[in-house]
Amino acid sequence: MLKEINGKITVTTICPMCGDVKFFNLPADGFKAWQGGELIQRALPDLDADDRERLISGTCPACWDRMFSLPDDEEDEEPFDDCDYEMGFDPYMGCFSDDC
Ligand SMILES: [Zn+2]
Repeated sequence: MLKEINGKITVTTICPMCGDVKFFNLPADGFKAWQGGELIQRALPDLDADDRERLISGTCPACWDRMFSLPDDEEDEEPFDDCDYEMGFDPYMGCFSDDC
């Protein structure tokens, strides 16, 4: 599943909550260091916090926010940005208007 090409490893993550897929193209050295027990912040310093979480748990930022968002979390402005299915259109609801 993990293939090293030209010093890079492609890792596929799938969010267990919403199925969102993201590919990472990571430096093989850093990835191996992380797998070997190095802190991911040190092994893969180019990743931001959301990407690190994706690699560790697969959970996408939107679902992560949904699971752990706190009322006083000021960074959490658009928690449902990436995978908001709750607001989706329901084709089986039909039309509420008498005109139809
Ligand atoms: Zn998700």
